[in-house]
This record gives sequence, C-alpha cells and structure tokens, in this order.
Amino acid sequence: MNLYDKIAHIPDFPKEGILFHDVTPLMADGEAFREACQTMIEFAKKVNADVIVGPESRGFIFGCPVAYELGIGFVPIRKPNKLPRETLSVSYDLEYGSNELHVHKEDIQKGQRVLIIDDLLATGGTVEATIQMMEELGAEVVGCAFLIELEELKGRELLKDYDVLTMLKF
Ligand code: IMP
Repeated sequence: MNLYDKIAHIPDFPKEGILFHDVTPLMADGEAFREACQTMIEFAKKVNADVIVGPESRGFIFGCPVAYELGIGFVPIRKPNKLPRETLSVSYDLEYGSNELHVHKEDIQKGQRVLIIDDLLATGGTVEATIQMMEELGAEVVGCAFLIELEELKGRELLKDYDVLTMLKF
C-alpha cells in the first residue's frame, strides 16, 4: 500500500503560511495504520528497545501499538500541568515563544533502552527535548521513529548520533 496517499496536506493550518500534514486519514484506514505500526515494531525490535516514549498527542497513537505488541512499557511526554506526579521538564524555543515538556521521573529507569516515537519530525525541537530528558534520567536513547519527516526543516541534523527511522518524506 502507498502510505503517501493517506496523508492529507492542509494549507494555512493552524495559521496562515503553514502547510499542515494530517496523518488522520492514515489512522482511519486500518490496513495503512497497521502497516505503519508494523514498520515501527520491526524497528523497535532491531534497536532492542525496552520502553517506548511518545510525545503528546500523536506520539501516543503510534507509540502505544508498538509497546503493546512487544510487551514493553509506554511512557508519555506531556505539556505542562497534565502529569500528576513528580516530573522532569525541559523548555525549548520555538519560532514564536517557547514550549515546555514533562515526563514522570519515576517512569524511566536508569539504563533503559528508549525508543522515541512520534508522528512527524519537523525542526526536531520536540525530539531533542525528549532526548534531553531521557538522558538526564540516565536512560539510553537507542532510536527515534517517525511516520513523516519534513526534510526542509532539517530536524535530522539534530539526530546525527541516533538511529533514526522516517517512513514518509516531504
Ligand atoms: P518539531 O518539534 O518542530 O520537530 O515538530 C514536531 C512536533 O510537532 C510533532 O510532535 C508533531 O506532531 C507536530 N507537528 C509539527 N508539524 C506538524 C504537521 O504538519 N502535522 C502534524 N504534526 C505536526
């Protein structure tokens, strides 16, 4: 199946001048969704991950099936004021303003082999912040997997030291 056909491209969303790549048609197609998850599952096996970490919110959608299939844990990365227990957080700059991400400290163990899964790699800010938190907690990031890579934004340059899977490139 050609997964490229399952991505919708929406001009001027969420604001003017932005071309938004919408993965929900792929999610809505059972065969396409399974194929995308299956590729991530094979990658997770290859890097021998023992926990999946996924940023809010589409990282949950693609990360959880992988964790379930492999019988390993899933740890969410969330925006401020969502996680009830003690968190580690990191702030990073966006083109306009900044973002803050959190993880429950107790849910990541020292030495764990972390695979970070998200729907899309753009500037790489989200994954870079996630890597920083994992490493601060003593875990090892063994890979980063994305359905989509926006090549122009060069997020991959931040990931030179990591094993990276991207399935669809725009
Ligand atoms: P980055 O931090 O600039 O790499 O942006 C990646 C994050 O923003 C991911 O968590 C994506 O879900 C989200 N994102 C950025 N652009 C898009 C898009 O065009 N479609 C869907 N998600 C996007």
